[in-house]
Formats: sequence, C-alpha cells, structure tokens
Amino acid sequence: MTARPVVGVFALQGDVREHVRALTACGATAVPVRRPAELDEVDGLVIPGGESTTMSKLSIDFGLYDPIAKRLADGMPVYGSCAGMIMLATTVLDGRADQRSFGALPMTVRRNAFGRQVDSFEAPVAVAGLEGDPFHAVFIRAPWVESVGDEVTVLGTIDRAGADGVTAPHVVAVRQGSALATSFHPELTGDLRLHNLFVEMVREAA
Ligand code: GLN
Repeated sequence: MTARPVVGVFALQGDVREHVRALTACGATAVPVRRPAELDEVDGLVIPGGESTTMSKLSIDFGLYDPIAKRLADGMPVYGSCAGMIMLATTVLDGRADQRSFGALPMTVRRNAFGRQVDSFEAPVAVAGLEGDPFHAVFIRAPWVESVGDEVTVLGTIDRAGADGVTAPHVVAVRQGSALATSFHPELTGDLRLHNLFVEMVREAA
C-alpha cells in the first residue's frame, strides 16, 4: 500500500531531490513528476526552485503544462518555492516575454527582485501559522510578491533592499486555499515546518 498522501514534485528542472526528501520525512509518499501519467497519480504537487523560464519551456515541450494547469484549476493543492512561486503567479514581472505561469495564485511576482549584489542571502522570516522561531530562510536569486489578490493571505515579509535599492517590507510567503508559495527554499535547511504544513493541506484536500 502506498502511504497517503502522494505528493508529486515537478521534476523537469530544479532541486527535486531535496523536496522529495523533505516530503518523505513528513510522512508523504513523494514522487517525481515528469509525465502526465505521473501527474494523474498525485494528490498534490510541489514546484521546486530552479529556473522558471526553463520550467515554463520544458513543461510545454514535455506536454505537462496543460495537464498541470487543469489539475490546478480543479483545486489540486500546490506548493511553489522560488522558481515554483513564479510558476504559480498570475503575472510575472522581469520575466521572458514567452514565459508562462499557471496563475494558481492571484499575485504579481517579480523575478530576481532582490538584485544581483545579493543574489543569495539567508535571513529569518516570521511565517504566520508556524510555531516556534522565525524560519531560517534561504534566498537564491529570489522573487518577491509585488501585489496580491483580495483572497490571498500574506504569511511572511522581509524588510530588505531590493534591486531598486529601496528597503521596504517585501512579501515572501503567501497562501490562498490549497495553494502555498514562498520566495525562499525550506527544502535546503532541514526545517520541515513548511513541508509539514503543505502535506497537511494535501491531506485535508484528499
Ligand atoms: N531566478 C529564478 C527564476 O527566475 C528563481 C531562482 C530560484 O528558484 N532559486 O526562475
């Protein structure tokens, strides 16, 4: 018997293995998803960090774009981290003209928003709903959320200068219903709280 829930990890590009490991540690059966038939077997999907322009292109080339869009429209729970967050946005700023995203979360996301001089950084982020200390968040050429729809809950912000040099609180974690997204990479830190939250969301929806 397969342990439920079964959580897929979009596996055409990105840091797939780290998410599989984290989801497994949370008691889910984690499976890489590269083909539509594999998508059919999952109760929820993680879209990892990586490169959103490449994810967009490969998902179209491999015939996975439309099936994922359909499952998301039908309410399949989804969690996107970093490039995965970009893939969930309705609007992508500083993207490639031909880049597509699933629009599962009504939000505008800016790519590489924290600028080149701070391509990568780590900082504590207080995430609403998580018990304990602020999350030790790893940002790698990370996006931020520039605006959200009325129904989106902002779970976390970071006060930091962007590529524009202006220091202001920027949204880096959001949720609406069974869609969750973070600008940062919890799969790299061993802190399982966000993966646990997502597995719980998948369980509730299943
Ligand atoms: N900058 C990347 C993009 O636009 C995201 C980086 C990441 O996922 N670590 O897709």
